[in-house]
This record gives sequence, C-alpha cells and structure tokens, in this order.
Amino acid sequence: MKIVMLGAPGAGKGTQAKKIADRYQLPHISTGDIFRTNIKNGTELGMKAKTYMDKGNLVPDSLTLELVVDRLNQTDCKNGYVFDGFPRTIPQAEALTGALEAKGEKVDFAIDIEVPDEEIVKRMSGRRACLKCGATYHILFNAPKENDICDRCGNELSMREDDRPSTVLNRLSIYHKQTQPLIDYYQGMGCLVQFDGTKDVEEVFNDILEVLGE
Ligand code: ADP
Ligand code: ADP
Ligand code: ZN
Repeated sequence: MKIVMLGAPGAGKGTQAKKIADRYQLPHISTGDIFRTNIKNGTELGMKAKTYMDKGNLVPDSLTLELVVDRLNQTDCKNGYVFDGFPRTIPQAEALTGALEAKGEKVDFAIDIEVPDEEIVKRMSGRRACLKCGATYHILFNAPKENDICDRCGNELSMREDDRPSTVLNRLSIYHKQTQPLIDYYQGMGCLVQFDGTKDVEEVFNDILEVLGE
C-alpha cells in the first residue's frame, strides 16, 4: 500500500501517518524529519535545507527529490510506505508518479486532512516534538504523560523553530500556493480521499481506517 499524506502544516499528517504506519506495518517517511535529522547531524544536506526551513520556505525540489529517490530504493519500501510531507509541489508529485510508473506502480491513496487556517495557528503554538524519535505531541490536545518528556523514548521535548506564529503564516501561504494544487492532481489520478481533520485524533484515524480497509 503506497500512501501520501496531504494537508496544511499542522493538519495532523504526522500524527496520522505514524498511526497508519504502525497499523499496517509500513515505513513512515517524513521528509521534514529527514531534513531535521540532517540538520542535527550537521550534514551538507542539513545545512542547505536549514536556510529554507527556518524561514518556513520549501526546500528546493532538486534537494528533496534526491533524498526521496534514495529512500524509495531501500528494501523496506518494497511493500509500500506512508509519505508524510512529500510531495509538496506539482513537480515533486510528477516525479513520484514517474518513478512509480517506471516500476509499474502507483500511489494507492492520497490522504488529505482538512483543517481551516485559524485552527492551524492554534495547533502549532502547542506542538511539541521529540528530536530523538520524531514523536509529536500537543500541550492541550495530545499531551505527553509527563510534562515535556517523550512517552516513547524519554527525551526532552522541544518546540520547533519554524512553529513560531510569523513563520507559520508564511508556511500556510506557501501551502495554499504550492501544495494545495496537489489535491486536484490526485483527484485526477483517482486516488484522493479527504478527511475532516478538526475531529479528535482517534476519530480521524477511525475515519481513515474505514477507507483503507484491512
Ligand atoms: P509540517 O508537518 O508542519 O508540515 P514538515 O515537518 O513536514 O512540517 O516540514 C518542515 C519543513 O521542511 C517545511 O516547512 C519545509 O521547509 C521542509 N520540507 C519538508 N518536506 C518538504 C518537501 N517535500 N519539499 C520541500 N520542503 C520540504
Ligand atoms: P503535521 O504533520 O500535519 O504538521 P502534526 O501531526 O504534527 O501535523 O500535528 C500538529 C499539532 O496538532 C501537533 O501538536 C499534534 O499533536 C496536534 N494534533 C494532531 N492531530 C490533531 C487533532 N485531530 N486534534 C487536535 N490536535 C491535533
Ligand atoms: Zn522520543
């Protein structure tokens, strides 16, 4: 099963992608997480990506596609995957379609999680992330058991640099310009499924499971 997650920053892509990946035993591939790991490790890719990410801009397609193609060729991707935060532009989507077509494959589901902009701004200010294992929390809606400590690995949680309100507004405007057109793109491919992301985490997950089936 090959899944891509669509939706504004903060819509809940990462939260749902992890649950889907656990449920169906698929690798969860977050381009944002891969960039953040590279930044933490001080790699060349990380240093290049950081200048874009800190401002809330997209990393150029060429850099993004290089790492995605590399990741797709790893053996754990043989039976499918959940892409989270990729594709984010029409050229990225076309490149993914092309890479899959070359192997006689296609995206099975493009899962779009819909949340209005006003709600997004509220969500981002409460998001806390574990930089060690990638788990994501919300101080009100999805709190860790112990304040500021990751349930999964015990690491200290932090707020993401790019979750400051001014950066969030830029990310939202870029989402509307560059990423939202992917909804029509995947509708045209016949694999778009849309969900109301304002419901709580478990409700959204149940709605998704109903569509994905066993
Ligand atoms: P969110 O989950 O809040 O949307 P991500 O963790 O997916 O954020 O992405 C964080 C940042 O990483 C983005 O704002 C962008 O700068 C960069 N990024 C992640 N994925 C991509 C991509 N597919 N193309 C370009 N930039 C990306
Ligand atoms: P994305 O990957 O789309 O940027 P996340 O999954 O990181 O979004 O979610 C953004 C923030 O909103 C996180 O703090 C997360 O815990 C919280 N969140 C996710 N889904 C919901 C939901 N259905 N209701 C309320 N808060 C949510
Ligand atoms: Zn953790």
